[in-house]
Amino acid sequence: MVNLVVAKKKDGKLIKGSVGNFLPNKLSFHINTLIDKTESIIELKVEDLKAIFFVKRLEGDKTSHDVPEKITLPKIHAMGKHISVNFIDGEIIEGYTHSLHLDRAGFFMTPNDATSNNIRIFVVLSSVAKIIADDKEIILSAETEIKRTCKTCKKTMDKDWKYCPFDSTKMENSEDIWNV
Ligand SMILES: [Zn+2]
Repeated sequence: MVNLVVAKKKDGKLIKGSVGNFLPNKLSFHINTLIDKTESIIELKVEDLKAIFFVKRLEGDKTSHDVPEKITLPKIHAMGKHISVNFIDGEIIEGYTHSLHLDRAGFFMTPNDATSNNIRIFVVLSSVAKIIADDKEIILSAETEIKRTCKTCKKTMDKDWKYCPFDSTKMENSEDIWNV
């Protein structure tokens, strides 16, 4: 499936094009851009980006995702849990996410405004200052990396393990902060 995207780099530069191979656990992806009516394929590193906006249209309608003033958004929604993402550059994007992973380069969120040009947004974690959900700040620092332990034997588990190799206890999906 080909998606239209606006990739925003950490330096503010925008790269628009279509993307066929974006996966949240990959470190880079290819974007097919149209520059002077010539197609060219550029490889983008996720770490160079601030966010990737999956959009309805590439032109017009700036990537507007601002919350209309003074609207209190519901905390839980069909699109997930409400979050407020505060970027290092000062921008704040509000929306919803079904699951938040801190062990990947970033995560997907859906903007709260269905009329927005954005369908969903991949937020690159290294460009985020803080995330607020349920009026609480989610700690993003590396020291708080989630340790998985087996609830039966209490040994530390590798994050890819689905079952404890010592006693076969099924691991909960603890790299997710939540799933709603
Ligand atoms: Zn165990």
